[in-house]
Amino acid sequence: MAEYLKLFIDGKWIDGAASVRSLMNPATGEVIAHIREADATQVHDAVMAARTAFNETNWATDIKLRVQVLRKIADLLEMSRDEFACLETRNTGKPLRESELDVADSVSCFRYYADLIESKQPWQKEMWDGSKSRVVYEPIGVCGLIVPWNFPLLLGVWKLAPALAAGNTIVFKPAEITPLTLLKLGVLAQESGIPDGVFNIVLGDGPVVGEAMIRHPDVDKISFTGGSKTGKHIYTSCAEGLKRVSLELGGKSPLLVFDDVDVDVSVDIALFGAFFNQGQVCVASSRILVHEAIYHEFIEKLKHRASGLKLGDPFDPETELGPIVSATHLEKINDCIRDAQVAGATLLCGGTIAAELGPLFLEPTVFVDVHQDMEIVQEEVFGPVITVQPFAKEADAVRLANDTKYGLAAGVITNDLIRAERVARLLRAGTVWLNGYHTPHVEAPWGGFKQSGIGRELGPEGLTGYMEPKHINILPSPSKVEWFVERRPT
Ligand code: NAD
Repeated sequence: MAEYLKLFIDGKWIDGAASVRSLMNPATGEVIAHIREADATQVHDAVMAARTAFNETNWATDIKLRVQVLRKIADLLEMSRDEFACLETRNTGKPLRESELDVADSVSCFRYYADLIESKQPWQKEMWDGSKSRVVYEPIGVCGLIVPWNFPLLLGVWKLAPALAAGNTIVFKPAEITPLTLLKLGVLAQESGIPDGVFNIVLGDGPVVGEAMIRHPDVDKISFTGGSKTGKHIYTSCAEGLKRVSLELGGKSPLLVFDDVDVDVSVDIALFGAFFNQGQVCVASSRILVHEAIYHEFIEKLKHRASGLKLGDPFDPETELGPIVSATHLEKINDCIRDAQVAGATLLCGGTIAAELGPLFLEPTVFVDVHQDMEIVQEEVFGPVITVQPFAKEADAVRLANDTKYGLAAGVITNDLIRAERVARLLRAGTVWLNGYHTPHVEAPWGGFKQSGIGRELGPEGLTGYMEPKHINILPSPSKVEWFVERRPT
């Protein structure tokens, strides 16, 4: 008999009351788990458990307890890193070495925020009127955390670690198709001694479970990572109750390649930027802009390397690309490829399914002869599909790079570091990598300009995003103000 994954509410594992969903391993098509999803009443129960834990436990006020719990979760996660990495790969199809990185980065993230709250001192100052002022940072309250399927554990931890560190209580919703590692993290949180109700997990889809979270009056903040369309909807819905909102949304990130570099090296960086995790990465370098002097050599070498990438079993250490996460998502990617061809873009390589491996293995796809106003240049595909465009001058490259509604990330490849720094400042993006790509640093903020989002994750900004500043002004003892004249009763 099938075992159903459970929801985690108020420290207990309980059956969802709504419909059943089966989860598949995208590499093999094998059914790996079944879930009974939550209904709106269970979302309400989770929110109320979080509210009670916020009001009635010492979680919000006891920094020592929070540091201890975060460090314990990090230790437990590190001890079971192989199990977590394998589970992530079975659920998402990403190559195992990528899942291993995700788990290691998640461990660092818990440790970083434990250290940060331990060291954070309140801001204090003697004021001109003899009073003393102190600014303290307090938790916002109940936070609803909603994440997508491309980095189920890591993106979850990027929210969970700072939100918990700040003293909030949580209702967490993983993506409907990739909840496995996050549920396992719930087990570790329980072992770490986290008070009941501080961390709750609800499973289900956006329109039912996510919607119940964003509309619930007892949720004080929504932190969302996902598509721009969903993000706009969440922003509008949260305006109603003036909920705090942070949004990590889509991108169409450019990689600028200048003509003073070794073409082989720049092609290598471009492949990594574009096709890591099958291109299902918000910051993927999906628009490559190449100086015209090396453009033809670049696209020939890119075609050769992209066509030679090894697709296959994500558990095979030789595998470089796994499957697309689901048939539904592959269909969206295929629509983008078809539309680009109809619009007149030339397919340099890829665009086909490696059917001998399975129905979800898409060959890395590169388009050339594109125009700036084509959808394939302007809209996120979120798969292994990129465009390459030539440019003549530095100013042209910057103009093309900035000419989309997104502003998540960018890369610049050049040996001229003065130019690299100059261009980095001109690019309208939240992260710019010079001569590299992709590496997140837990100490540095992550997020988007323009329609790529609002707010930042990671770094100190990632923590203050889950806090309310409070100014406390102190006079040593009460004394009359004598602003108003004291009149005796007549
Ligand atoms: P999505 O917007 O469809 O779903 C994301 C999450 O939102 C899922 O958990 C989903 O169930 C939930 N959701 C959907 N509708 C909802 C609603 N009405 N109310 C509340 N929740 C709802 O996105 P996706 O397809 O899962 O993820 C891909 C997108 O995520 C891409 O656009 C990608 O760029 C973006 N992304 C951004 C970052 C970043 O850091 N900026 C990181 C990863 C992914």
